[in-house]
Amino acid sequence: MEERFTVGELTSPKKVREILSRYHFKTRKSLGQNFLVDNNIISKIVSAAEITDQDLVVEIGPGLGVLTSALAQRAQKVVALELDNKLIPILEETLASHKNIEVVPADAMEVNFDQLVHEKTRGSFGGGAKGYKVVANLPYYITTPLIMHMLTNNFNINSMVLMMQREVARRLAAAPGNKDYGSLTVAVQYYTEASLAFGVPRTVFYPQPEVDSAVVKLTKRKSPAVEVVDQELFFKVVRAAFGKRRKTILNALSSSNIGATKEQVDLLLGQSGIDPKRRGETLTLEEFALLSNNFYTMGIF
Ligand code: SAM
Repeated sequence: MEERFTVGELTSPKKVREILSRYHFKTRKSLGQNFLVDNNIISKIVSAAEITDQDLVVEIGPGLGVLTSALAQRAQKVVALELDNKLIPILEETLASHKNIEVVPADAMEVNFDQLVHEKTRGSFGGGAKGYKVVANLPYYITTPLIMHMLTNNFNINSMVLMMQREVARRLAAAPGNKDYGSLTVAVQYYTEASLAFGVPRTVFYPQPEVDSAVVKLTKRKSPAVEVVDQELFFKVVRAAFGKRRKTILNALSSSNIGATKEQVDLLLGQSGIDPKRRGETLTLEEFALLSNNFYTMGIF
């Protein structure tokens, strides 16, 4: 009889190779398939997520189920979304002993998380889970769009603990003036409080990726970090400010598609108390909000 695996064994690269070969499974770089093979990192991710036995956790990309299993030991329930159908039979084997995990074959980019959670928890959590936590070792090829999908759709996510390329992680948690601070930083910090939890070397994955990683914790704010009159305009101003990073904020905005003349931008910067010679990357979220609100008042949007 073939050897069956318990999920605890799957942090050995040798065992991972064995199970992959038994299922004739070839990892696909195009799907970001780099599996975690380090118990310590798995524990650190679970700790960072601060999971209790009341929690519903949504995991993106369970892979072989190592993180899923660790999450299920703490949470009331785990719903795991896996795009690659070839991993489903493997997960049925590795997660067989857990009764509180539901693996859903789906593309996380296409999923309405609230709707899915509602369907999967109708009979529990007192008539359906209200908020939930997202935990993932993200497929790196869609890190940014996935984060934006979860944030801009205003899903009922309370917090996210996400592993990603270190370079992207630094951008999410950057402060104004830092080279990593950009429009992605502003977008993420508008919706969440972002902090770098810890770095992860490439050696803890099978197969090893070409870059190091880091885990970021995003705690959803009750309301956005700053008050803006027109959200679309706010993000348009932010994108324009970072579109030409080497230019002053005056030049970047007046040569952008916002449709304001240099004189108008100069006036608006003055009204907002922002030196026109500053670079966009030095502006705080508050300054971007004030500036975009002033654009709105002047009728430019
Ligand atoms: N959680 C596992 C671990 O830590 O070992 C696997 C993480 S691996 C970096 C990313 C996983 O996401 C893979 O299992 C991959 O098949 C899956 N995946 C890729 N794109 C996806 C998508 N759009 N929706 C859901 N899962 C996806």
